[in-house]
Amino acid sequence: MRFPLRDQDRSEILRFQLRSACQDCFFYNAARHSCAHEWPMEEQARWPLTGEDGSEPAGEISLCKEFELR
Ligand code: SF4
Repeated sequence: MRFPLRDQDRSEILRFQLRSACQDCFFYNAARHSCAHEWPMEEQARWPLTGEDGSEPAGEISLCKEFELR
């Protein structure tokens, strides 16, 4: 699921230390750098939320429906 990020969203993500990336998910296998359910992780792996080149804030966020906070 993908949706745009507003300044308020970015502010609350930092303020409340929200997590949604694979590295914080119960199903993330760090040794294999992969998802236990074999979902693609490209758009889900970014954290902190930066743009494609890492220099600017992200304009959107992708959320995985199977994310489980570890
Ligand atoms: S279930 Fe989703 S959030 Fe969790 S590791 Fe797999 S792709 Fe990432």
